[in-house]
Amino acid sequence: MESGELNIPSTVKDPHYRYKMPKIQTAIQGSGNGIKTNWINLPDVSNALKVPVEYPLKFIGRELGSNTELKPNSYLINGSHKVEKMQELLDKFIKKYVLCPKCLLPEIHGKIKVKKGKKEIKCTCRSCGTTSKLDSTHDFASYIQRNPPPYEEEAAVGGEKASTDKEKKPDKKEKKIDSELKKNIKECCINLPKIIKDEESIESNIEEIKNFINKYGFGLDIKFYCFAFGIFPNEIYTKSFEHRLPIIKHFIEKESDNNPEEALYNFLIGFQDYIFSRQKGKNKKYVSSVLYYLYDRDILSEEFWLEYLNGNIEEKYKSMLNTPEGEKKLKEAAKDFSNWIENGPYEGEEGENKEKEKENKEKEKPKNEDEDEEDNKKDKKKGKGKKNKKKKEKEKEKEKEKEKEEKEEKEEKEEKEEKKEEEIDIDGI
Ligand SMILES: [Zn+2]
Repeated sequence: MESGELNIPSTVKDPHYRYKMPKIQTAIQGSGNGIKTNWINLPDVSNALKVPVEYPLKFIGRELGSNTELKPNSYLINGSHKVEKMQELLDKFIKKYVLCPKCLLPEIHGKIKVKKGKKEIKCTCRSCGTTSKLDSTHDFASYIQRNPPPYEEEAAVGGEKASTDKEKKPDKKEKKIDSELKKNIKECCINLPKIIKDEESIESNIEEIKNFINKYGFGLDIKFYCFAFGIFPNEIYTKSFEHRLPIIKHFIEKESDNNPEEALYNFLIGFQDYIFSRQKGKNKKYVSSVLYYLYDRDILSEEFWLEYLNGNIEEKYKSMLNTPEGEKKLKEAAKDFSNWIENGPYEGEEGENKEKEKENKEKEKPKNEDEDEEDNKKDKKKGKGKKNKKKKEKEKEKEKEKEKEEKEEKEEKEEKEEKKEEEIDIDGI
């Protein structure tokens, strides 16, 4: 940590925490009964906390039972006070009036609202979108009531004006993604891929991703959106992708606050935006393969997919990140997978024939990876070994393709790393 800087609040010990404030600096003035503490750098601290300059001074004054005085270039508290004590009280102020009560990030600035005639202070978090009440029983609350911080009303995405009716519990669809939150999402999506290291163990990757993504304090929807955006390698058809499947499984099952279905749904939304907004949709052809993989690893179930196709999952969770166009595109790209799910694995003689018919038809089409993948999965599901020769040929072909792709990937990797930031475009929001 840079010297002279503390986390907001200073009780957060992470040296890489992104919210910083300067350490309190004071000078003792006068003597005897007239002794005063001058908080020299109050404007810098208030600025870092994004609160009106006098707030921290007034709060600490009330806590200490001392009068305060705000003059140009001097910020006085009666009596002689130690910096450590003031820092402790400043942290108390931060916890009450700077942090979002839900996610504990200092992201409520410009979003604190006082209702006239009502002893209530409310805030909406820029990071997690939650509306919460702040402490209105503390002495300092009445000061906020009389001198509310500037409240910022932002236009919602799409130019629509944000609703001021905060009494109505907003349904998720109405929750607005303001520019600050959008910035955080983008930042998270860009940096998450840099956290993942395929040469490290699954466990260590899980730990790293968890630490990284949880810092943002996103709700489940945004968390899994970003997770999907970050977890896929630039080229999906590589060993890295398979290597990362256990991480996906772990996150959806274990890091989803017991809502794996909702997590999976938001993961798919992130996936859909990842596919169609990056590298000009180059990975589009792998959509069915990815879904097969998820199915194969028991991450995605048949029931879920059918419900998803029917729109029931969207209806249930109403994600603010989803767009009907994006969903339509994903469903189209997943046609092979959907067909297979809907028709089910073939069994018996009739089934075999059907399967062969399909295979012959497919042979006429130009080969590509996902079709190989599809066949592979089908064979796996069926547990039949009749097409061994064909399979072997395919595998050979596949290996060759794979090698080629991996080589290409290696060559392009550096160039891509540079381009990555531009390529990530979270237009879906
Ligand atoms: Zn929050």
